[in-house]
Amino acid sequence: MTDLYGRNIDYARISVTDRCNYRCVYCMPEEGVNFIPHKEILSFEEIVRIIKILKELGIKKIRLTGGEPLVRKNIVELVGKITKIGLDDVSLTTNGSLLKIYAEDLFKSGLRRLNISLDTLNCERFANITRKGTLIDVLEGIEKAIAVGFNPVKLNVVVMKGINDQDDLIALANLTIDKEIHVRFIEIMPIGDNDQKDKFISCEEIKDNISKFFKLESTKGPFGNGPAEYYKLKNSKGTIGFISPLSKHFCAKCNRIRITSDGMIRLCLFSDVEYNLKERLRSNLTDDEIKKFILETLSFKPKGHPYIQKAREIYHRNMSAIGG
Ligand code: SAM
Ligand code: SF4
Repeated sequence: MTDLYGRNIDYARISVTDRCNYRCVYCMPEEGVNFIPHKEILSFEEIVRIIKILKELGIKKIRLTGGEPLVRKNIVELVGKITKIGLDDVSLTTNGSLLKIYAEDLFKSGLRRLNISLDTLNCERFANITRKGTLIDVLEGIEKAIAVGFNPVKLNVVVMKGINDQDDLIALANLTIDKEIHVRFIEIMPIGDNDQKDKFISCEEIKDNISKFFKLESTKGPFGNGPAEYYKLKNSKGTIGFISPLSKHFCAKCNRIRITSDGMIRLCLFSDVEYNLKERLRSNLTDDEIKKFILETLSFKPKGHPYIQKAREIYHRNMSAIGG
């Protein structure tokens, strides 16, 4: 699929649930959010149908996300159905808390790539950031994922000024030395009900902080490297990457669409405009009619999102509901 600006759209992120067992400070308010009623959430059949249709339209890569995808009941079964569709790549983003339990079965169901969110290696900070999580669960989950064969394993780190922008950067970068782990530092985005708007720190500053301790050599990223810029530490097995959705936004190269857990098409993370795909799926339309709807929708994909000041306004849906 090509959009009005000539961008080839071949990547879809699909949120399989808006629910989560954490309440990360940058993603949800402490008291949680009103979760979408179950009947409004896409069923497995609907998700599989959408993916098959998207494949016919030229989507080659799918990422399953959430909320926390591993809290969705029978997630392994869903992953198995999706990996059988025959896409070039299926991956999943998780907070890692349940990987100890699911890593092996996910691997057996055909999944090969995982992104795991981990913002700090300090237990207390981890508990404060996630509000509900325990660091050891995630560390054991990462070990398990590597042990059963996931490769590449990427860690996503949302960096917040004054919280995890100093020693954590060094500790996390250090993980890449002995293991083939790819640690990606991400700029915090002003999305949803979070009170972290003053915690923004750009990737340039993050990189400067790391460069005080390590010499960074520019390198090619692991498979599925998307918009990150990658570097290596001397003799490291893994890499570190920087993802700058605000300071150096990558709209011109944006190749993705999102499907929210309640079946809305979202063409840009920074635009609250959504298109109701679920309504079409539930109204006896044929696959061809749905394809036509998706293609028409694509013509509304914005050229870009506003520059930083404007982008620091709050976008309404939480990341957990959109599917980060
Ligand atoms: N629950 C899973 C997880 O945390 O990995 C998947 C969903 S989460 C919404 C997807 C990614 O979005 C995570 O890596 C998370 O850190 C990131 N994220 C959430 N809110 C964010 C924000 N305000 N700014 C930047 N990244 C954010
Ligand atoms: Fe849950 Fe992921 Fe959002 Fe944290 S970032 S609250 S783990 S959905």
